Amino acid sequence: MDTIEDHELIIVGAGPAGLCAALYAGRSELDAVLLERGAPGGQLLLTELVDDYPGLEEVGGMELARLMAEHAEKFGVEASYADVESLERDGRGRFLVKAAGGATYRAPAVVLTAGGTPRRLGTPGEEAFRGKGVSYCAICDGAFFKGETIAVVGGGDSAVEEGEFLTRYAEKVHVIHRRDAFRAQAVLQERLLRNPKAEVIWNTVVEEIRGDDSGVTSLALRDVETGETSELPVTGVFIFIGFEPNTGLLAEHVEHDAGGYLLTDRDMRTSIPGLFAAGDVRSQLVRQITTAVGDATTAVFAAEKYLVDLAEKSGSGDGGASDGRDAEAEEAAAPA
Ligand code: NAP
Repeated sequence: MDTIEDHELIIVGAGPAGLCAALYAGRSELDAVLLERGAPGGQLLLTELVDDYPGLEEVGGMELARLMAEHAEKFGVEASYADVESLERDGRGRFLVKAAGGATYRAPAVVLTAGGTPRRLGTPGEEAFRGKGVSYCAICDGAFFKGETIAVVGGGDSAVEEGEFLTRYAEKVHVIHRRDAFRAQAVLQERLLRNPKAEVIWNTVVEEIRGDDSGVTSLALRDVETGETSELPVTGVFIFIGFEPNTGLLAEHVEHDAGGYLLTDRDMRTSIPGLFAAGDVRSQLVRQITTAVGDATTAVFAAEKYLVDLAEKSGSGDGGASDGRDAEAEEAAAPA
């Protein structure tokens, strides 16, 4: 059944950024709704152990997700299961977030915390050993491979930079690339190539990730030039073949960088007035749980200020909009 629910603020996505946004929205007593597609936690649910969240020396990813969800719930924000299909505006600057099944959520402000998705290789074993040797995050999981032999797949900035980073922990890092040249920046390539713990396997693809109850044990490789196959013993494989921000639901153009990540200002404002972005969906230097919650905190305070400004403008009838943002805000404040 088609329904429309009105709120002051909609938070789209319940990873660490979304859960933190919900916490602050609840604490500020905003009428907010948190829309989540599945269990709350986002990529935390794919992380076996987190050892870099201040104050929690070691915590399971799922456990941290549960703690964050409970904390947000304590402040009373409504959470709704919603598989969001689109985010558009209604012509008055208000956002319409449409979910599968016919539910529409309407609000003058949105904090988009939809995250991103590491691109998958699609080889047999990748899903089965995810979190058991297959990783998409060197900073999160590198320390679990101290003294071991591991592999990195990819040839862009991420693979080359993270491959070099992983030599801090691993005894040997094989960087497997499908071509005979990296696309990574020269400075990153040089750093990797002069590292004695790193070795590049060119012109090669991973055909299968193999393992047993202990986790990953080897990779089945194929040389794309000779067709020769081989088996490489490794206990871990880090896949860096690109990352895709979850921005597909945006119905209109929002300014983004070359990778599709949303550009924001200091206050997490995107190029659309009332639309704030936080966490992995946002263009930034690092994508960590700590940066996601920091973004979300800023985004909610900025959204709250935006809502106050809207209310003041609609109350005072002040027509002196100073820029496009203010003009849009006035439009959003106008009655339906
Ligand atoms: P990327 O630049 O898109 O590179 C992806 C790499 O994975 C490419 O080498 C590609 O091979 C390979 N690849 C793609 N699909 C594959 C598959 N199915 N099987 C095997 N290999 C596959 O992605 P990224 O490295 O994650 O970087 C994303 C963006 O972030 C880029 O704009 C990058 O510059 C930026 N970034 C910057 C920094 C930095 O400045 N320090 C660090 C990290 C990322 P081909 O080369 O053959 O296409």
